[in-house]
Amino acid sequence: SGKWAMAEAILRELEEKCATPTAKLRRVADAMTVEMHAGLAIEGGSKLKMLISYVDNLPTGFGALECWLRVMVKKFDVLSDYAFCSRFRKIGFFILNEKGLFYALDLGGTNFRVMRVQLGGKDNVIKQEFDEVSIPPQLMTSSCNELFDFIAEALAKFVASEGDDFHLPPGRQRELGFTFSFPVRQLSLASGTLINWTKGFLIEDAIGQDVVGELTKAMERVGLDMRVTALVNDTVGTLAGGRYSNPDVVAAVILGTGTNAAYVERAHAIPKWQGLLPKSGEMVINMEWGNFRSSHLPLTVYDYTLDAESLNPGDQIFEKLISGMYLGEIVRIVLCTMAEKASFFGDTIPPKLSIPFILRTPDMSAMHHDTSPDLKVVGSKLKDILEVPNSCLTMRKIVVAICDIVATRGARLSAAGIVGILTKLERDAPKEGEKQQRSVIALDGGLFEHYTKFRECMKATVDELLGEVSDSVVIEHSNDGSGIGAALLAASHSQYL
Ligand code: ADP
Ligand code: MG
Repeated sequence: SGKWAMAEAILRELEEKCATPTAKLRRVADAMTVEMHAGLAIEGGSKLKMLISYVDNLPTGFGALECWLRVMVKKFDVLSDYAFCSRFRKIGFFILNEKGLFYALDLGGTNFRVMRVQLGGKDNVIKQEFDEVSIPPQLMTSSCNELFDFIAEALAKFVASEGDDFHLPPGRQRELGFTFSFPVRQLSLASGTLINWTKGFLIEDAIGQDVVGELTKAMERVGLDMRVTALVNDTVGTLAGGRYSNPDVVAAVILGTGTNAAYVERAHAIPKWQGLLPKSGEMVINMEWGNFRSSHLPLTVYDYTLDAESLNPGDQIFEKLISGMYLGEIVRIVLCTMAEKASFFGDTIPPKLSIPFILRTPDMSAMHHDTSPDLKVVGSKLKDILEVPNSCLTMRKIVVAICDIVATRGARLSAAGIVGILTKLERDAPKEGEKQQRSVIALDGGLFEHYTKFRECMKATVDELLGEVSDSVVIEHSNDGSGIGAALLAASHSQYL
């Protein structure tokens, strides 16, 4: 009826502006590849920072030894749940040459996690414990000391709860792998300065500081004796964790609060690298792809509004189209326009609708997945979050359509990013006269894990863009790979090795 005509028009325009036909995605993927080259060529050569991670010793091909381990693990699989087995697999290679107790700390979004892992031991028993603490929102815009004191205190509390079943050899200092998922210019594997904040964090006095130094000082302030032996981005941790379990893993992508990717580059393909070439001939690159930008990205007036109102206007444009922190917020901004221009919610605009970030991506996802005939999940979300008491089916259907358009665009763009990486690695097309290599991409993050329609659309789009090569490309969920990966990197760079 006439009442909804204006809303329908806004919806159709949104759909048109957010469209991502195959040809457009190919241009996005190609632009990603071009920017990767530019970022590797010289420092500051691209919006893609293409940061050198100092991780150059990812294990490859274990031959007979690996086969034996895989058989052992397979036997184990029958007895235990998959999650534990995938962890066991990751740690498997270390059992042979590394043992001991290692800690990991993961700071990168809304929560931070502390973890301890016991590797090896007399009977090869592996134990793992973790604790998750949500970061008080006011700390995200506080001071460097306040943030790191909070982290160090939580870590000290966790260390104090260490049971007798974890063993630190006498005379040894506890060692930590620090997963810090913000852009860092690394000076070595265990040090690096913060370039800028993303994802709702803004702590001015931390920018330019060595985050390992800051954490170390905070640990001293709370009387915790621990050494950081590896500083890793979550993408790099996920890649390291993924590689131990599967030698075909070539890249890792995070789709969580933010989004980012890392991949294994040939060291000689990094012109800006000034140091000695690593023995392995490889180097893991943290792309910081959230900051990717291209004229081919389908940006709308809603995206410009979101960007302008963000803590980092002009930055992280790819991330703002794709990741969990922003998808729900885009939907809210579209609804604001519908409320203003089409009286979508009636004569008055619901006051709650004007609160930034009130509509979270998990709520958007719940509405998007509503299969009930009267869309009752949508109805109750509108009631509970926006205080819209009575919503008719037409209104609910339009809300679902907005969620679908916004999620589909994000999922398809992330697929184009993945294809851009595969193109850079020359794994996007069949090679003449050669058997197609398998390429595995390790994926992690709450958005990928929980937003089923997003995940499925992303996977289908990767296949769509790759055509026949899609048979040899696998998207694999790497559960808590970043935490385990950081602990493994801490272990492999222990001061006692
Ligand atoms: P982080 O990225 O902060 O390290 P996670 O990987 O756990 O943390 O991702 C958390 C993000 O995942 C949340 O900010 C949210 O945007 C998204 N998310 C969590 N649960 C869901 C869900 N059910 N549906 C959609 N997105 C979700
Ligand atoms: Mg994370």
